[in-house]
Amino acid sequence: MNDSSPAPVALVLDADPDVAAVLSLQLERLGLETRYHQRSAALLAAVVARPPRLVVLGLEVGSEDAIALLRRLADSGYRGWVLLLSGVERKIARIAERVGHTLGLQMLGCLDKPMRLPDLRHCLGNLRAGCVAPREARGEPLFTGEELDQALSRDELTIHYQPQFELSSGRLSGVEALVRWVHPTLGIIGPARFLPLLSRDQARRLTRRVLALAQADAARWLREGVAPSLSVNVTADDLMSPDLLSLVCRRPPGDPPLVLEITETAAMHDELLGSEVAARLCLGGLEVSVDDFGIGFSSLSRLQLLPISELKVDRSFVQHLHEASQDAAIVEAVALLGRRLGIRVVAEGVEDPACLALLERFGCTHVQGYGLARPMPAEAILEVGATQDSMRASSAASGAPLGSTP
Ligand code: C2E
Ligand code: CA
Ligand code: CA
Repeated sequence: MNDSSPAPVALVLDADPDVAAVLSLQLERLGLETRYHQRSAALLAAVVARPPRLVVLGLEVGSEDAIALLRRLADSGYRGWVLLLSGVERKIARIAERVGHTLGLQMLGCLDKPMRLPDLRHCLGNLRAGCVAPREARGEPLFTGEELDQALSRDELTIHYQPQFELSSGRLSGVEALVRWVHPTLGIIGPARFLPLLSRDQARRLTRRVLALAQADAARWLREGVAPSLSVNVTADDLMSPDLLSLVCRRPPGDPPLVLEITETAAMHDELLGSEVAARLCLGGLEVSVDDFGIGFSSLSRLQLLPISELKVDRSFVQHLHEASQDAAIVEAVALLGRRLGIRVVAEGVEDPACLALLERFGCTHVQGYGLARPMPAEAILEVGATQDSMRASSAASGAPLGSTP
């Protein structure tokens, strides 16, 4: 290949030439021009010379440590996508994926060896949809503080709602409010792309706005006879804010609850646990859900200091329920914990409705996931609420992915 030839779309690195050759063929079949390397130094040189859109990295790359390689890839300023290829324990692959995210790499996921063409096609969904934001691709900060300020002051935020279903009846039981930014030129932008860039003040303004929009939608649904509980994501800072309760509309007894979702990690915030927040939330009639449960390091005795009415099992455990016995053990343990505490256990990230029976057997009470219904605009919730056993019905009816969600 000479320098004037176009850059390959994908570069593959794997110590096993057979694996690399098969994968290259598969990628070519999916329309991606591919080169493969057996040594990381050669791969890095190629990435720097002419950055491809995709780097596929085998986790066993001979003498080199793949995680160190991810760091070098990030240090090189690479802005394309990264897909991991793993023949090692899923736990290790997950750590590698998380390191990639932390380093700011655009991780497409992790494929188990031997690779199957349908899985590869599925993983490449983002890449093929051309989801790389132009600025991101050029290595510039995604949005300036000023742009984010404008988004908040010009009311460019909108909410999509992802249905949650009661597992036993299949009925719509709740919705989770998920914020999106309707950017004037870039279209709908998902929260992962802009929430981490918000200042503390901007984050507080966002919560205020989300609460206002979501409660207005919930009131409209209620007037139409659809009464799902409303879950809103908040930060530890929001929970400790003295004016949180003033942002919450008074709900007559019997109205569906307003649930504040806080991540397991944030729930362990020392100041939060030591404050009067728990008492205030209870008195204000609010419920607390511990989100992404299972990936943090919470101590259960400390968690009890919050008035928790729900645990949401992190989706990373739910997604591979059938393949990974360790994941199944964690989901079952969380469900048991929930039952003993007398609270709801929501399995989120249900992509395959085939795992519903297993989730029910484990004792999960509620489910949420792309395989059942994707996040949708407020009006669409009325339709889901009006259908009996909408859990099964809406899995067939849900449309294309919205926002940044893959
Ligand atoms: P989260 O609270 O864990 O919300 C669930 C995320 O998982 C949503 O992504 C949802 O679209 C996605 N999801 C749902 N089912 C599936 C599935 O089956 N498979 C997969 N792969 N993903 C699924 P989204 O909307 O992009 O939100 C990402 C995160 O942004 C949320 O994660 C939450 O932490 C944060 N977020 C969203 N809205 C708000 C908000 O209004 N305020 C705050 N503070 N954070 C928010
Ligand atoms: Ca959540
Ligand atoms: Ca979650």
